[in-house]
Amino acid sequence: MSGYAHWRGQVLKSDELKELYQGLRLNDITRYDYVLTGYTADKSFLEQLVGIVKDLKKQNPKVIYVCDPVLGDKWNGEGSMYVPEELLPVYRDQVVPLADIITPNQFEAELLTGRTLNTEKEALEVMEVLHAMGPHTVLITSSDFIPSCENDLLVVLGSRITCKPDGTNSKEKIRLEIPKLDAVFVGTGDLFAAMLLAWIHHHPDNFKLACEKAVSAMSHVLKRTLSCAQAQAGGGKPRVAELEIRMVQSKRDIENPKVLIQATTL
Ligand code: ADP
Ligand code: ZN
Repeated sequence: MSGYAHWRGQVLKSDELKELYQGLRLNDITRYDYVLTGYTADKSFLEQLVGIVKDLKKQNPKVIYVCDPVLGDKWNGEGSMYVPEELLPVYRDQVVPLADIITPNQFEAELLTGRTLNTEKEALEVMEVLHAMGPHTVLITSSDFIPSCENDLLVVLGSRITCKPDGTNSKEKIRLEIPKLDAVFVGTGDLFAAMLLAWIHHHPDNFKLACEKAVSAMSHVLKRTLSCAQAQAGGGKPRVAELEIRMVQSKRDIENPKVLIQATTL
C-alpha cells in the first residue's frame, strides 16, 4: 500500500526482477549477508522472489532473510487486506518457511496462522506457530490487545529461538511498550524492519538490546516528525504531507539511538 492518495511511477514486474537477478548472477555478485523484503502486491513477483532467496541461500547458506510479510492491518479493530488475497498462501507456504526473521503486525500474524489473537497469551502461542513454520525470530510489530494498555500504548512482542553449541535450543520472549503518537505516518513498517535488521546485525547475541534500539530509534524519529509537523501546521492538525518522516534530520538518532524504551523479558 503506498499510503498516499496519489502515486506515479513504475512498479518492477516479476520478469524484470528475474532479469535483474540474472545480471547479478552472471557477474557473480550474488553473495549477500542479508536479504530484506517488504510490500509486494503481485503473486508472480512474490513467487519469483522465493526462487531468488532460495538461490541466495545456496550461494551463502548463512544469508539471513528478513521478511516483512505485508498483507494488511487493522483499523478500529477491523482487519482488512491491502494486497490481493492470493498472496496469503504464497507467504504462508513458501515465503515465511524460507525466512529467518519475520515482522508481521497483529493482523498479519493472524492471517498467516489462521488464528485469532486477542490476548498476550494468544500472541505468544501464535508466535510459536510462526516459529514452527520456519523463522527463528518473530516480531509482532504492533498490537493493541492488552487491556491494561488502554489506548495510548502500542505493544511490540519479540520471540527468538537460539541454537546453543550443545545442540539444545534456548528461547527468549520480550515485550516493548511504545507510547502511541496521535498521528498516522507513512513508511514506519519499512523503517522498523530495516532498523531491526541493522541492530540485530550489530548485536547478534543481544536480541533484547537490538529490539530496544530499533524501537527507540523509531520513537526518536517519529517524535521529531510529529513535532516538526505540528510546528508547520501552526497548532492545527498536521496534514499528511507535513508528516513525512524526518529521516535526514534524525540521522544521529538512527545511528546511535538513546534507549528510551526498555524491553521486559517474558
Ligand atoms: P505495522 O502495522 O506493519 O506493524 P506500523 O507502521 O504500524 O507497522 O508500525 C511499525 C512501528 O512503527 C511500530 O512498532 C512503532 O514502533 C512505530 N509506530 C508506527 N505508528 C506509530 C504511532 N502512531 N506512534 C508510535 N509509534 C508508531
Ligand atoms: Zn507492516
